[in-house]
Amino acid sequence: MTSIDDPKGTASARRGPFDVSHPCGACQGQGKVDEQPCATCHGTGAGRLFHGTKADLRPGELIEPGRPANFGKPDRQSRYVYLTGTLDAATWGAELALGEGPGRIYVVEPTGPIEDDPNLTDKKYPGNPTRSYRSRQPLRVTGEVVEWQGHSKEELEAMKGGLERLRRQGVEPIEE
Ligand SMILES: [Zn+2]
Repeated sequence: MTSIDDPKGTASARRGPFDVSHPCGACQGQGKVDEQPCATCHGTGAGRLFHGTKADLRPGELIEPGRPANFGKPDRQSRYVYLTGTLDAATWGAELALGEGPGRIYVVEPTGPIEDDPNLTDKKYPGNPTRSYRSRQPLRVTGEVVEWQGHSKEELEAMKGGLERLRRQGVEPIEE
């Protein structure tokens, strides 16, 4: 299986530090309290969850599933909405999102259950190191990260090249 951030292992795009910027205080970033998933952070260990996009949104607004994915067929509507516990993964989301205008990174809270994003969780990256998740329920915007460091032009070109190769190979996002 290929992963969108290292298709066929050929992309030179950096995988990022993928650090959780704000570990959850309730579980000290462990994602578990007394062997149960931590309710505060939805079991992610991340005290803040992010969504990268090019949409212009305000706190309180909902991000619904149904936007086109950033790879695969352009007319394909995603049945999920994606979120991550790491700023680096959110940065890729903001930079690669379809649409015009600058990328934006919002702090979000899920309104329903979340699960690991299978597109970024495989044998190559055991344990979901990019802390990428998805939900069928909307995400509520609670804030915006206004200062973030984008990837370099070279990193962005390498990533876009990798996504374009995937598109040509007919690789579609995993949406089951
Ligand atoms: Zn927690």
